[in-house]
Amino acid sequence: MRGWLAEASDAIVSLFFPAECRICDKLLTRASRVPICPECLASFEAPPVNKCELCWQPLVEITAAGGEPLVCRACQQKTYAFERARNFGLYDGPLVRAILLLKWERIEPLGSWFAQRLAEMAAREAQLLAGDIVVPVPLHRDRERERGFNQAGLISKPLARKLGLPHKAVLLMRIRPRPNKQLLSFEERWESVRGAFATRPGGQVDNKRVLLVDDVMTTGATLDACARALLESGAKSVIGLTVARAARNPLSAPRNGTL
Ligand SMILES: [Zn+2]
Ligand SMILES: [Zn+2]
Repeated sequence: MRGWLAEASDAIVSLFFPAECRICDKLLTRASRVPICPECLASFEAPPVNKCELCWQPLVEITAAGGEPLVCRACQQKTYAFERARNFGLYDGPLVRAILLLKWERIEPLGSWFAQRLAEMAAREAQLLAGDIVVPVPLHRDRERERGFNQAGLISKPLARKLGLPHKAVLLMRIRPRPNKQLLSFEERWESVRGAFATRPGGQVDNKRVLLVDDVMTTGATLDACARALLESGAKSVIGLTVARAARNPLSAPRNGTL
């Protein structure tokens, strides 16, 4: 009944307020709460076939030798505290614009749409990606107050609902803000998040398998720092789930590679 009403109200809204796709400006003909046309939604670039099987870092210039599992250098060296990571798409083209829309305009139906994609991924690898609780990567409280919401939460909350798991929005907190600088170098990124997260006392993470959710994974530094805080508080394991992932990461490149 609720679904039917929502659809009917969408139809009425689109009848009186025709909207354009926020990516290609084409008029949206189908009633939907996601302000992006089906063609643009279908154009998001999926992770490539050749990727690290643990963290899904694209490794397009490398192929696995003789049926060996493909594992990036960062994972070989056990750089990350999270057990594995998965992403829906590559951080490029229309997906960048969609994530910026989510991030700056709080388009909750788009968060739900991304959550559905992540839920489908979790179902495809049900054993490897099993979790007990869903936790968003938090913003520092000053930043969240300034923005009014945490974009990771717009994805993690509907994801938890779809997976039938508890959503723990305040379990993890960012205790040190991100440096006030737009572009951070690779080293600065790792430095800026080291020890920047902590779990709240009484957060009840003991022996839990955590699904840690964020919008974008770049170097893995943020997911790593969050995972360390969760594991220190007794979490059993942490799996990173992000909507998008940067195609290149200096940490993953082979020692003599050109990636
Ligand atoms: Zn479009
Ligand atoms: Zn890897």
